[in-house]
Amino acid sequence: MFSLPPYAGEVLEKLEAAGFEAWCVGGCVRDALLGRAPADWDVCTSARPEQTKKALAAFSQAETGLRHGTVTAITSGGPVEITTFRREGAYSDRRRPDKVEFTSCLEEDLLRRDFTINAMAWHPQRGLRDCFGGQADLQRGLLRCVGEPERRFQEDALRILRCLRFGAVLGFAIEENTEKALLALARLLEGISGERVQAEMDKLLAGTWAEKILHEYAEVFRVLFPEISCGDVKLPSEGGAAGWAALLHGLPAAQAEGLLRRLRFPNRTQKEIMQIWAGNPLPISQLAVQGRDLLELGFQPGPFLGRALHTLLGQVRAGEAPNEKGSLLDLARKLLARGGQV
Ligand code: ATP
Ligand code: MG
Repeated sequence: MFSLPPYAGEVLEKLEAAGFEAWCVGGCVRDALLGRAPADWDVCTSARPEQTKKALAAFSQAETGLRHGTVTAITSGGPVEITTFRREGAYSDRRRPDKVEFTSCLEEDLLRRDFTINAMAWHPQRGLRDCFGGQADLQRGLLRCVGEPERRFQEDALRILRCLRFGAVLGFAIEENTEKALLALARLLEGISGERVQAEMDKLLAGTWAEKILHEYAEVFRVLFPEISCGDVKLPSEGGAAGWAALLHGLPAAQAEGLLRRLRFPNRTQKEIMQIWAGNPLPISQLAVQGRDLLELGFQPGPFLGRALHTLLGQVRAGEAPNEKGSLLDLARKLLARGGQV
C-alpha cells in the first residue's frame, strides 16, 4: 500500500523473527495514507521492553522512554521508537496515566490512542488494522476522538490542544461531538505543563491552517494565553520563532517575556523570538480602536483625532495600556475631555 523504508522493515522483521507481533503505528500510518512523508516510523509490538531490547540487540539503543515501554533503536536510517502494546490505567492528574499496563493485544493499544486517524496500525504483509474508521475520517478530513470525547479529554487535556494542532497542520474539521467536548472542557488546559504546550504549539504555528484555527478557537486558546487576543492574530507562513513573535505581537515586552518563560522556552530561543518581536512594533491598523471609533465618541475629523490615535498606539506599544477596545475608548474619552491637550 505504501513504501516502508528498509530500516523500519528490518525492525519489524527482527521482532517477528523472535516470535513477537510488530506493526507500524500512529503518525507514520496516517501520514503515509495521506501521501505525506512521515517524520518518523514508530513501531508497536507485543514484546515487553526487555524482549525488544534483546530482539534488537544488533542496533544501538536509547532507553529514554523505558518506563512507558519504549525502546529507541538507532538504525542506519535513523531512530525508530518501539513501544510495547499497552492499555492505560486511570488518570488522576489529567496528564499522565497513573500506571502503564502492558498487553499482548494490538486492538487494546489502538484504543488508548487519541484520534481515529492516529489509531491505525499497518504491516507490510498483514496490511492495515483500522478499528475505529480512521481511514474514512482521513478521507473526509475529520478529527474524531477514539471513544467518548469528554472522557478522553478529561483523561489527558493535552489532547484538546493536539486536536487543534492536527486541525492547523492538516486543515481537517473537528467532528461535532469531539468539538463540543473540546469547547466544554477547554479550561482543563490550565493544568498542562509549559513544555507540553510549547511542543504542540510549535507544530500548530507551523501549520498551513494555523491562523484559521487560532481565530476559530480563540476561546480555547484564551485559557492558555489570556493575555493574547487570538481572534485577531496574523501569522507569517513560516512558523518557528517568527510564528511565536507574531503570536506575541502587540503585547508589552514584559508580558511577552513572561509568556515565553511560562512555556519553559530555553533562554536562547526566548531571545531569538524577542528579537523578531522587537523588530515588529504593532502597526496602527491593528490597534483595537480606529478613527471611526473616535468619531463615534465625538472627536472631529482632523489632526486632533490623528494625534489621539497615535497617543493610544504609543501607550499600547509601551505596554502602558492593553490593546483592548474598552480600555482604549476610556483613554480616548479622557483625551477628548481634556479638549485637545493631547
Ligand atoms: P507527528 O507527526 O507530529 O509526530 P504523531 O501523531 O506521530 O504526529 P506523536 O506525538 O509523535 O504524534 O504521537 C505518536 C502517536 O501516539 C500518535 O499518533 C497517537 O496515536 C499517540 N498519542 C500521542 N499523544 C497522545 C495522547 N496525548 N493521547 C493519546 N494518544 C497519543
Ligand atoms: Mg510522531
